[in-house]
Amino acid sequence: MPTPLNISQALEELTAALGPNAVFAEADVPLRNRNDYSGLLPTQPLAMLRPADTKGVSDALRICHAHGLSVVPQGGLTGLVGGARAEAHEIALSLERLVGIEEIDSDAATLTAWAGTPLETVQQAALDAGYFCPLDLGARGSCAIGGNLSTNAGGNRVIRYGMAREMVLGLEVVLADGTVITSLNKMIKNNAGFDLKHLFIGSEGTLGIITRVVLKLFPKPGSTMVAMCAAPDYATVLKLLSSARASLGPLLSAFEVMWPDYWQFATTQAPGVRNPFAGDDTAYAAYVLIEAQGTDPEADAPRFEQWLGGLLEDGTLPNAAVAQSLSGEKAFWGVRDACGELHQFWPRHLAFDIGLPVTRMDEYARRFKQQLGDLVPGCKSVFYGHIGDSNVHIVTHLDGVAEQPKDAVEQIVYGLVREYGGTVSAEHGIGTIKRRWLGHARSPEQIALMQTLKAALDPKNILNPGKVI
Ligand SMILES: Cc1cc2nc3c(=O)[nH]c(=O)nc-3n(C[C@H](O)[C@H](O)[C@H](O)COP(=O)(O)OP(=O)(O)OC[C@H]3O[C@@H](n4cnc5c(N)ncnc54)[C@H](O)[C@@H]3O)c2cc1C
Repeated sequence: MPTPLNISQALEELTAALGPNAVFAEADVPLRNRNDYSGLLPTQPLAMLRPADTKGVSDALRICHAHGLSVVPQGGLTGLVGGARAEAHEIALSLERLVGIEEIDSDAATLTAWAGTPLETVQQAALDAGYFCPLDLGARGSCAIGGNLSTNAGGNRVIRYGMAREMVLGLEVVLADGTVITSLNKMIKNNAGFDLKHLFIGSEGTLGIITRVVLKLFPKPGSTMVAMCAAPDYATVLKLLSSARASLGPLLSAFEVMWPDYWQFATTQAPGVRNPFAGDDTAYAAYVLIEAQGTDPEADAPRFEQWLGGLLEDGTLPNAAVAQSLSGEKAFWGVRDACGELHQFWPRHLAFDIGLPVTRMDEYARRFKQQLGDLVPGCKSVFYGHIGDSNVHIVTHLDGVAEQPKDAVEQIVYGLVREYGGTVSAEHGIGTIKRRWLGHARSPEQIALMQTLKAALDPKNILNPGKVI
């Protein structure tokens, strides 16, 4: 643990290196930098640093490394697992001044951005250049591209484009001791030795601080089709997924499933949400939002409607609706995005982001609800998620208690995850909140190798210590 003497000396050196407006000590640390979106209690870190460029990040790490001070990288602070939350003895390092698009290379179809750039800015810059950045999530206006890569974010279009990792060509990273590794590669093919960028993507700021990124850009979609489908049973959901993959091929861009408990909440309680099946009182087993995006506006929509019409005609689907306008598409997505309103009705709820074999999800949901009813009577739960990506979200809430039954619910969620060979985090990461459950999804050998890599890159354990492993 650093002594007060080396803390004050380190702060002096940091101020000299970064400038006075880049170092905020203790009570001056802005409120915003005291927490992330995890719902944990805020802290008061030792200091908050806001370097202006890669050299500033390197200087900051070199000084903190020399004094043995722990550093917690912060992007947009929308992370849900406590990964960007600095403890009282740690220093927060915000990337908020490393913002902007450095270059769009239209020939190579790449975009180079500073790590603190909000995702929405990256998306808009790609669109303005006639391209498309497919990474998309609800926090797009606040999260930063460096944070997205550090968490290997998923989001809405993983089924088509993959996780954030698959959109990255190059990175610039600062290691724990301040060493800068610049590899702003734009080539799709580059097999010269280890592909080191993958160490830093998804490692939640424990191995290095990302300062710049090179992203692959994609053709701008020329057509978007969105349908909401009702399924009488889970077998139909699986049949629909296979059929969508086979018939829509690479056009399939989202396959989102909502269980009846979630649907009931979204269509009857969430503000501003319209029920696409208003007037149909049948209680279906599942509701599926399907999105397809193509480049041929003339041919894509008729092909989509013909495919869906066939499934209605042959009786596979009892009900389905295709959005006829942009506002219709938004209304369908509004049902799926109503999860963002759950906190209004279930304050301090528990939220889970698990991955499961797609064929076992409904069985998991039924067994989960049975165990929850037995062990935590009265606890409610809803299921929804990116099923096409093997990712389901669960939110639980027990009314009228000061503290949610976190331990009991986690035992059920993760106990079943282990039994089904799933993962404790499909997209949000581990942070501190899920660290105790990592062993339910990774073997002792895998965790030992993660620790070996951590020790090799950060032998003094100053980069985001206590997170992930
Ligand atoms: C409304 C809402 C919707 C969301 N939807 C999704 C979703 O659909 N899919 C999904 O995957 N996530 C989702 N999230 C979670 C969150 O938005 C993502 O994890 C996001 O990628 C975090 O980015 P950030 O910039 O806010 O990172 P932060 O919260 O600031 O940090 C996240 C982690 O990355 C580290 N870090 C941040 N920047 C850097 C850097 N430059 N270098 C090294 N490490 C760094 C931090 O130390 C921390 O461990 C959602 C969150 C909210 C609030």
